[in-house]
Amino acid sequence: MLRIDLHCHSTYSDGLLFPGDVVARAARNGAEILALTDHDETGGLAQAAEAAREHGIALINGVEISASWQGHIVHVVGLRIDRENGDLLDGLASIREGRLTRAERIADALGKLGVEGSLAGARKYVTNPNMIGRAHFARYLVEAGYAKDQRSVFRKYLGADKPAFVAHQWASLEDAVGWIKASGGDAVIAHPGRLRAGQAELRALFTEFKDLGGDGIEVVTGSHTTAQFDEFATHARKHEFKASAGSDFHGPLESVRDIGVLPDLPAGLTPIWRDWPEARTLTH
Ligand code: AMP
Ligand code: MN
Ligand code: MN
Ligand code: MN
Repeated sequence: MLRIDLHCHSTYSDGLLFPGDVVARAARNGAEILALTDHDETGGLAQAAEAAREHGIALINGVEISASWQGHIVHVVGLRIDRENGDLLDGLASIREGRLTRAERIADALGKLGVEGSLAGARKYVTNPNMIGRAHFARYLVEAGYAKDQRSVFRKYLGADKPAFVAHQWASLEDAVGWIKASGGDAVIAHPGRLRAGQAELRALFTEFKDLGGDGIEVVTGSHTTAQFDEFATHARKHEFKASAGSDFHGPLESVRDIGVLPDLPAGLTPIWRDWPEARTLTH
């Protein structure tokens, strides 16, 4: 088992736990190194750092940036970023701004499908004002009985090509990688197995990401099946990417994998954390 988890969320984006509670849970589960990677937001990192000191684990400053690439939504995780870097903070603020009008459009689309009061309903789950996203809507739709769980909400309403999906212009891939690199971080493509892209498109994405200075891809993630661990290990070796691992934990009853309890990387990969000073004392 890995003692490291490099992808999770708090109330600063669409997670259910406060940053301090995310860290406490990871520590209790045996993690020694944790990256908090809220969507388009670094506001939770200060609280997470404080909790990490208390619990004796190492916190990696992280973020998960929403990017648009050739009609796909690509999530780019930044690890060991400088959370005070101006380029990064300005960029993230610009992405967050668009979320409010998008949320209004999602609510309109849901209204036309007979789902009432979804903007107010989603807002009940929002802690950080601008950071409203589909997970908040999904929680409301489940609560109000429009679907049995979040997965069904995405299948029925909010997933790509579903009737309440609202196309949105996120960061360009170039900007997302650029902000992460400008702040001294490593850039990693999150859960590539979730992309609905064919092999040729995946190859094009990986090649472009590499050219932009991208460092790695997630191989082990709560969003991949175990077969996909091997599939993306092969991609990582081929494109000479480092491999990352993260639960993508959002909350106790919502996530496939709990925080801080990930299986080992497949053999023959370079872990993204190999040369990190924080990882020197890692017991595994
Ligand atoms: P957004 O950033 O507003 O587009 O929302 C994306 C978030 O929705 C992801 O980070 C997940 O938390 C959640 N999500 C996306 N797809 C699914 C799905 N199929 N089932 C459950 N949650 C999902
Ligand atoms: Mn999320
Ligand atoms: Mn993601
Ligand atoms: Mn995530």
